[in-house]
Amino acid sequence: MIVDEILVRARKEKRTVLTEIEAKQILREAGIKCTDTQLAETKEQAVALSEKMGWPVVLKISSVDITHKSDAGGVKVNLKNKAEVEQAFDNIMTSCRAACPDAGIEGVAVQAMAKPGTEVIIGMTKDPSFGPVLMFGLGGIFVELLKDVAFRIVPLEKKDASEMINEIKGKKLLEGYRGQDPADIPFLENMLLKLSELVDKTGDIAEIDMNPVFAYKQGAVVVDARIILE
Ligand code: ADP
Ligand code: MG
Repeated sequence: MIVDEILVRARKEKRTVLTEIEAKQILREAGIKCTDTQLAETKEQAVALSEKMGWPVVLKISSVDITHKSDAGGVKVNLKNKAEVEQAFDNIMTSCRAACPDAGIEGVAVQAMAKPGTEVIIGMTKDPSFGPVLMFGLGGIFVELLKDVAFRIVPLEKKDASEMINEIKGKKLLEGYRGQDPADIPFLENMLLKLSELVDKTGDIAEIDMNPVFAYKQGAVVVDARIILE
């Protein structure tokens, strides 16, 4: 089981933060769709992985000490060829070393570039009295400025998942607004249920943050993920 291996390794290294690569492995094993994401320790490996994955790709800093990757200059999207990947690798290393001089850096995460969709966020936090609680909201300014989010206690039933999505104020955006594609709501409900199952059976996860998830007319994919252990 990938989950157990990752948890044991993290404990051994005395860390509670998992890398995006590890977080996505755990989510994928729980049946939650994530972008293909793999570690490259060198520029050459980054190029080789990009060629294998297919263009365009995204490169991101992989470090347990850098949680806000874009703020540190650690995310480069839409890389279309070898030269762009090489340049992005160098730029990411330079800006992240400058922004976080003490960070341990394991390399870059090479990932398939997801096509744009409606951005949503799905998360889990532990409430001191209720235990694990799942959160659903629209991405970007909706969650940051408007705090338009819904919460439910784990374990979720089908009804809870559907109510959560229904009760956010920005629901219209998910139904297709001004020519934008509607989001696959049953697929998102299923993602919430799978996350609930994962949290329910894995006691020592303290926090999960899937931000953003891109939702499409058909399906949805987790583009960034963070997991923190107890
Ligand atoms: P941060 O640690 O700053 O939250 P993210 O991994 O969320 O970093 O990346 C920042 C932004 O880059 C995302 O909000 C998303 O818009 C875009 N992005 C990241 N990864 C991908 C990807 N695989 N495909 C498409 N867009 C991506
Ligand atoms: Mg993010």
